[in-house]
Amino acid sequence: MSASPLSDADIGRLKVNQKRLMEDLHHTCTWGTGKKWGRQAIFTGMTRLALSDDDKRARDWFVQTTRNLGCDVTVDSMGNTFAVRPGRRDGPPTCAGSHLDTQPTGGRYDGILGIHAGVEMLKVFEDNHVQTEYPVGVVNWTNEEGARFPISMVSSGVWAGEIPIERAHNLQEVGGGTATMKSELERIGYLGSVPASYQSIPIAAHFELHIEQGPILEAERRKIGVVKGVQAYRWYTIDVTGRDAHTGTTPFSSRADALLLAARLITRSHDVAVKHSALGSTGILTLSPGSVNTIPGHVRFSLDIRAPADSTVETVEAELKNAFASLASQNSKLSVEWQTDTTSPAVNFHPDCIAAVRASAESVTGSADLVRDMVSGAGHDSVYTSRRCPTSMIFVPCRNGVSHNPEEYTSPEDCAIGAEVLMQSVLRYDRLRAERASA
Ligand SMILES: [Zn+2]
Repeated sequence: MSASPLSDADIGRLKVNQKRLMEDLHHTCTWGTGKKWGRQAIFTGMTRLALSDDDKRARDWFVQTTRNLGCDVTVDSMGNTFAVRPGRRDGPPTCAGSHLDTQPTGGRYDGILGIHAGVEMLKVFEDNHVQTEYPVGVVNWTNEEGARFPISMVSSGVWAGEIPIERAHNLQEVGGGTATMKSELERIGYLGSVPASYQSIPIAAHFELHIEQGPILEAERRKIGVVKGVQAYRWYTIDVTGRDAHTGTTPFSSRADALLLAARLITRSHDVAVKHSALGSTGILTLSPGSVNTIPGHVRFSLDIRAPADSTVETVEAELKNAFASLASQNSKLSVEWQTDTTSPAVNFHPDCIAAVRASAESVTGSADLVRDMVSGAGHDSVYTSRRCPTSMIFVPCRNGVSHNPEEYTSPEDCAIGAEVLMQSVLRYDRLRAERASA
């Protein structure tokens, strides 16, 4: 297939190999296999934390496989890995990207499907001798989950110039270990020499196939979500400081119980989020000293606030800062401090990419009724790429809307439909670039 440019019919004839896609995916999921939940061998979750030995094995597979498919592979200083297949002419690649790392009790599809769909795209291009107008590529972004090194999408953030590399490199692993991102990148051999930057490694466009991680597509019996943007969110670390004291000899009136105050603050964050139709959640809580008969003098907890509009997140934050200060002021020996760790504004994806996904989704599913527009509730690497290149995402249904859970599941058919939409989107965008260049 070498006609230039590809027609809609040419694009429609290219088919994803569902069996190969799923075999590859389950093959790499033998590295970091998590909790078993069903009869079949593939019915397990995943525990593949960023830059672990298992992550290295999956990365090595990605590098080897894409090299064998004729790609040039570049690893940058955050371990982001760009596999690029040459086109007819030079220029930055149109990319499919996602992540191979998982949550500690994650599943086989979040992120992993997006990478495998990209690799399957490269295989289909090789099988059919497809020559694209410009280079096309697949990107594995490092530590998207923020589970091991606690800033999510940190490496696409560095690439986009939004997070300083020193801050990212110095991130220490959660759970009390001393490893940093830099030390682990070095240890597993993925500290690349090319700066992680959109200036050193430009991308023409970024498409990300991802499971929905919510219940909407399944409930409406639709196959594809055309993702037009991402809701805003902010992450905070809250430190509550009181005073360690003996539980038996200290009357309530003399206590400065940091945990009791933290419990009130967390409850309040829930109430304020409900009031504004936002979301408020705490997922990490540590206290010290951690003894049955000592009142905790210090508590640290995470707070995650999300809403479709930036202004709502700002309102919730302002209201909570007042409320927390006022709750703390009821006892002069207690204090509360806020630190903002991540600010992710609401994102609107690029109309050209959205149009490419919409056309591809209707072509693959054969019906506009099986496709709907969506706003993502979760952050993704596409949030950061959208700051530096046209971007959009493709959602496929996942069972019961469940993710970040071993039982996360998307059927092979839906994985293949999503992968085909991804492949077509890349081709349509590639064609658009060529049309514009010759116009
Ligand atoms: Zn993900």
